[in-house]
Amino acid sequence: EEFTAKRVRRTFVDFFEQDYGHRFVPSSPVRPRGDPSLLFVNAGMNQFKPVLLGCADPRSEMASYRRVANSQKCVRAGGKHNDLEDVGRDVYHHTFFEMLGNWSFGDYFKVEACTMAWRLLTGVYGIPAERLYVSYFSGDAASGLPADQETRQIWLSLGVHPDRVLPFGMKDNFWEMGETGRGGPCTEIHYDHVGDRNAAALVNMDSPDVVEIWNLVFMQYNREGDGSLRPLPQCSVDTGMGLERLVTVLQGKRSNYDTDLFTPLLSAIHKCSKAAAYSGRTGGDDEGRVDMAYRVVADHIRTLCVCIADGVYPGMSGAELVLRRVLRRAVRFSTEVLQAPEGALASLVPTVAHILGDAYPELHAETDRIMEIVNVNEAQFLSSLKQGRRVIDRTLDKMDGSAVEFPASVAWSLHRNLGFRFDLVDLMLEERGMTVDKRGVERLAAEREKFQSQSEGGAGERGLHSDLQGLAELQSRGIPHTDDSPKYTYVL
Ligand code: ATP
Ligand code: MG
Ligand code: MG
Ligand code: MG
Repeated sequence: EEFTAKRVRRTFVDFFEQDYGHRFVPSSPVRPRGDPSLLFVNAGMNQFKPVLLGCADPRSEMASYRRVANSQKCVRAGGKHNDLEDVGRDVYHHTFFEMLGNWSFGDYFKVEACTMAWRLLTGVYGIPAERLYVSYFSGDAASGLPADQETRQIWLSLGVHPDRVLPFGMKDNFWEMGETGRGGPCTEIHYDHVGDRNAAALVNMDSPDVVEIWNLVFMQYNREGDGSLRPLPQCSVDTGMGLERLVTVLQGKRSNYDTDLFTPLLSAIHKCSKAAAYSGRTGGDDEGRVDMAYRVVADHIRTLCVCIADGVYPGMSGAELVLRRVLRRAVRFSTEVLQAPEGALASLVPTVAHILGDAYPELHAETDRIMEIVNVNEAQFLSSLKQGRRVIDRTLDKMDGSAVEFPASVAWSLHRNLGFRFDLVDLMLEERGMTVDKRGVERLAAEREKFQSQSEGGAGERGLHSDLQGLAELQSRGIPHTDDSPKYTYVL
């Protein structure tokens, strides 16, 4: 029997439910509940935070959770985890993905967690052991943390070859909730897609040949206010495995986009575009650019569907602003690179519901609403683009023939009034052989910033020209920020 995505998802949950007594808890919506520090749910752990911290309402069902498993809808397109810029350029980061996870809250710990994971991957899914690499925490002198030899020994005793058990430091193998709070060493499982050479050197190198599939976090410390780490009396396990990456492995593919989670969507995109069929190329030439556009559109429409179904609509701040950015990127890639007509994006929604609706029935229930919202927002953006082009044309007509730079004030007004990011303005001007007065724009941005921090009681003096500096920062300042430029994202 073939490993369809559906079967992979079901097998995971069944394994933990039936073989190891976990309780299945459905995915929470992607809009976080009661956690203002979070734009989107970005890991399976999010909904279980109260259990982990021992502060779940004692009358709630959650308070009784000891072993749970699920597949969680996750979005990493803004805030702490932001994979937006990688999407389409590589074949294994998405803005929306599903995270399979199992948890122990004060129940089992390292031996059981590693044993379950290994048995599932090699025994149940049948992945050859020699394609898997595992990592463990190498210790950190500065924090006085010892290496996690225990985990190393566990992997060895499970039969993993010593050459494939690799130590890494704080950055890769120590997880912390935040400045203070829970933390501990983690162990990650990586899959070697090539197999005929020593892949150890590629682990954690962000190579498409060796891809991280599963992260097992062992929470055994609490970081105190004074920076010290206090060992916890009760330890917990938090794991997360990307479903799309696992399905890629099990379907013998090299790219998440070549699995049944994406191929129907790519064909649907092809049907409504003027581009040649998707052929999986990456790279900077024209063909690579078209295939990247396919990946971006496929990724972004999934994200739009899931978010809108969960009540996050494209808008002006926070998660809504991020989603607007996602929508605008999808529109530009689809209309400009793939030359799909207006309305093409919305026409993909039923295909997304078809692929994911079994696991997340709200996608079926909300199909019409999602299509409507995508269409309305697309139309608005296309009309802003048109309006922006008119403003640019009129300004250029009025300009003195010897002028070399486009006036900052007009660029600023496109930004403020039509929500254009400066890179979009740049791109539109480049098409006309003109560049914007960058210094002038920076001056205006600095003035605006000064004005803002004064009116907010001096919120800080970090960087100017905020648009060039990342979404999270802008959000905290309440400045609208939108990205619409396929070229920009591509070149970077
Ligand atoms: P990477 O190093 O590849 O960015 P990560 O270390 O940020 O992954 P974790 O936070 O450890 O990821 O999440 C657990 C698992 O979720 C990863 O092992 C991976 O399989 C999957 N995953 C993480 N980010 C993404 C993403 N953007 N798209 C698809 N799967 C992802
Ligand atoms: Mg990451
Ligand atoms: Mg990683
Ligand atoms: Mg990881």
